[in-house]
Amino acid sequence: MIRKIDHLGIAVRSIDQARKFYEDVLGLECEKIEVVESQKVKTAFFPVGDIHIELLEPTSDDSPIARFLEKKGEGIHHVAYESDDIDGQLQRAADNGARLIHETPFEGAGGKKVAFLHPKSSFGVLTEFCSGKDA
Ligand code: ZN
Repeated sequence: MIRKIDHLGIAVRSIDQARKFYEDVLGLECEKIEVVESQKVKTAFFPVGDIHIELLEPTSDDSPIARFLEKKGEGIHHVAYESDDIDGQLQRAADNGARLIHETPFEGAGGKKVAFLHPKSSFGVLTEFCSGKDA
């Protein structure tokens, strides 16, 4: 079951550049910066209430984020929903005709279990499911 929106992913070319907007213009604080090797991405998390803004910077030219930036430019990359049962969530999505990018969850930023649905079957919005803090 989906509990809430966990975070919004925003693709940027440079976290060093983009963080100035979040820190100086919005007055938010960066909670942590983390490289997720498996996804070839560097992430920066800014808490906003109990959700987060997740900035995503590619760490290599063949990173999925690099391809996204090439095609669409900087901007909203994905919406992540916290679920207490990601496998059940994926099953439900598959049963209802959604295209899965990942059949099984993998370890994303913060050690959370994550999986994505293809934006082609979710009306243009890349959709992520992620486990809660203690899952
Ligand atoms: Zn995410």
